[in-house]
Amino acid sequence: MATGTTAPASLSELQSSYDALTARGLKLDLTRGKPSLAQLDLSGALLDLPLSVEHTAADGTDVRNYGGSDGLPEMRAIFGDLLGIPVEQLLALGNASLNVMHDVIVHALLHGVPGTAGSDKTIPWRDEQIAFLCPSPGYDRHFAITEHLGIRMIPLPYLDGGRLDLVAIAEHLKDPSVRGMWLVPLYANPGGQIVTVEEAQALVSLPAAPDFRIFWDNAYAVHHLTSDEKPAIDVLGLAAAAGTPDRPLVFASTSKITQAGAGVSFFGASPANIAWYRLHASVQTIGPDKVNQLRHARFLESADGVRAHMRKHRELLAPKFATVERILAERLTGHATWTTPLGGYFVTLTAPHGTATRAVELAKAAGIAVTPAGAAFPYSEDPDDALIRIAPSFPSLDDLEAAIDGLCSCVLLAEADAAEK
Ligand code: PLP
Repeated sequence: MATGTTAPASLSELQSSYDALTARGLKLDLTRGKPSLAQLDLSGALLDLPLSVEHTAADGTDVRNYGGSDGLPEMRAIFGDLLGIPVEQLLALGNASLNVMHDVIVHALLHGVPGTAGSDKTIPWRDEQIAFLCPSPGYDRHFAITEHLGIRMIPLPYLDGGRLDLVAIAEHLKDPSVRGMWLVPLYANPGGQIVTVEEAQALVSLPAAPDFRIFWDNAYAVHHLTSDEKPAIDVLGLAAAAGTPDRPLVFASTSKITQAGAGVSFFGASPANIAWYRLHASVQTIGPDKVNQLRHARFLESADGVRAHMRKHRELLAPKFATVERILAERLTGHATWTTPLGGYFVTLTAPHGTATRAVELAKAAGIAVTPAGAAFPYSEDPDDALIRIAPSFPSLDDLEAAIDGLCSCVLLAEADAAEK
């Protein structure tokens, strides 16, 4: 239970409550946005579906055999509805969208992407030192891909209120080496930001290199924490209307809908990009796991089936986010600020500048694992050393309370330590 107070405490008081915390021998984990066991159980029936008897998809495909590299039409239809993408522009693929993002970048590096509208010229990205815009804080695994593949990353701080800095983006896009931009349009990891239709409109309209691509990772498209279930922005439609149909590449998956890492991923794009992807993917694989796709189609049934299923996730997740909010307010008001996300999987805590690394170290030593400080920034460099990412989904409510309360003690001790120096 949260026991703290916002009244100032001395360094020695904070140190002794921290010593008491470490003496408890906790072993708690707030590192990754993983569904809890109760969330996974919501999809337990996936594993019981009798596909040994019924293994034919709606178009007559026997899912046990090779082929069907676009994925099952029924899965494409369900997620086309949810993502606002015509079925012919949406592929249902393998078990993880991150894998698709990685491969798309590798294909672009090796072969280039379709060029300016009206031209089929492609220039491999590896022919020059290209760069990606990285709204920050952002998803550490996005940044890991670009760093690993030798792509320069340009941090792009969000403005107050979570708005994208369109002026800075326009300025960066004048540099033709900028070929990509990471973006989580709804409930961003980890800051919870939500891209508006006006921002999306600007992003597809700004002058940029003809082969500039927005990696529109709609990982949290249906992961609402409130009853305000925002529809997906039709970014492909906006881009087509703006004359830049090839600019957005849309990614999504069922990882946090059914089973994390054992679901179905999606890739949506313009007809030219889809043809391009098919060409390269056809060399890489004979097709995705259609057995798993059929299982998902039978289990989820329809877009409304997914929406109803996600409300069950919300019932499990919302109390956890409320608990985090309550304890942070009790313990850290006046010391730190934090987000109150409307969806997605994370809360970000902004500790006093220069203290996040120390607070995370203290937490680790007390048995509370949080994502390493800095991880949400390109090259793991948080310019303020202030941001701590909290992933409340996995632990039980009791464990979560203990972990957040303990983390608050670490933030306060790190702050007091820094003030002494
Ligand atoms: N994209 C974002 C923004 C995420 O937060 C995550 C997981 O945390 C993923 C992608 C991973 O998706 P997948 O399991 O489909 O690879």
